[in-house]
Amino acid sequence: MSNKIVLLPGDGIGAEVIYAAKDVLEAISKKFNKSFEFSSFDIGGIAIDNHGTPLPDETVTACKEADAVLLGAVGGPKWDNNPSELRPERGLLGIRKALDLYANLRPVKGFEKLLHASPLRQDIIQGSDLLIVRELTGGLYFGEPSERRDNGNSVVDTLSYTRKEIERIIDKAFQSAQLRNKHLTSVDKANVLESSKLWREIVEEKKAQYPDVTVEHVLVDAAAMKLITNPTDFDVIVTENMFGDILSDEASVLTGSLGMLPSASLAEDGVGLYEPAHGSAPDIAGKGIANPIAMILSAAMMLRYSFDMNDEAQAIEDSVENVLNQGYHTADLKSNDGKLVNTTEMTELIVKAI
Ligand code: ATP
Ligand code: MG
Repeated sequence: MSNKIVLLPGDGIGAEVIYAAKDVLEAISKKFNKSFEFSSFDIGGIAIDNHGTPLPDETVTACKEADAVLLGAVGGPKWDNNPSELRPERGLLGIRKALDLYANLRPVKGFEKLLHASPLRQDIIQGSDLLIVRELTGGLYFGEPSERRDNGNSVVDTLSYTRKEIERIIDKAFQSAQLRNKHLTSVDKANVLESSKLWREIVEEKKAQYPDVTVEHVLVDAAAMKLITNPTDFDVIVTENMFGDILSDEASVLTGSLGMLPSASLAEDGVGLYEPAHGSAPDIAGKGIANPIAMILSAAMMLRYSFDMNDEAQAIEDSVENVLNQGYHTADLKSNDGKLVNTTEMTELIVKAI
């Protein structure tokens, strides 16, 4: 049986790193005798250029028919001044909604060899290993109406959640904690926001179903600080869409670079989408120097969650660590031993390690 994978390269470095992940999957296919079938479709800015819309129907159809989707990144200065319906980000939000990808899992694991690459104190970040579970289809990014009124002098964004939307992400987080170290931190702003009050109530209701998991509530501002001062206190963090967006970029500092963070976006029952936590990085796009590891580790998550290929996923993760341990690094990861490599070289090293 062939495993159908749709590639959505997108824009900027997204289109550079996605082929790195494909090379790695081809190496896995040879080593473990698995078959993957790839097809590519447009999303984001490139889709605006080629089809006049950031999310063509054929892209949505192909994703719905696939077993899993790998996405690079969307966006870039070329489309920055487009009207809102012609923004590349609309493509990304649109595909998340179309596939009902409500749960975004972002593991943040510091590699021993990269401790020095973080600006944070090594003794504080050593041993960081946490999972951010971010709600992905509700909240401010999807609130209607979102508009300018009064000749542009007043603005409206709406933060809306239903009980069902909160319940399913909280369940996912408890289940994720059960598979890890059984500690869940729910992050909200319940002292101010009505949505956060409901969120907190639901966590309290749900915790009886997961008696093996300890739970704490932390306000988002305090959580932002604790991520930097006491990162090893966390196991699983669950939070709403925008808080999760912000906290996961912050958490990337623990790993030394945004270029190290993979993610999985999962539906209740359906195709999963895997993408790096970083964006299209216009400042380095086209230079061939992007770190492909976030994308490659996202492919490993795909093998684990969509195809139940745990040994294969582990082989990718071990190979990444092996190459890092040899001292190789891309430009985003500072290092003193000078084994600086570009995207292609890093990919080849990982493929060889597999
Ligand atoms: P988005 O709005 O799409 O989330 P962002 O604002 O988070 O994007 P990124 O595109 O992720 O921005 O880039 C943030 C910074 O991190 C940039 O300086 C970029 O060059 C760097 N960066 C991101 N990903 C990588 C990578 N894979 N390799 C090297 N540097 C990266
Ligand atoms: Mg970002």
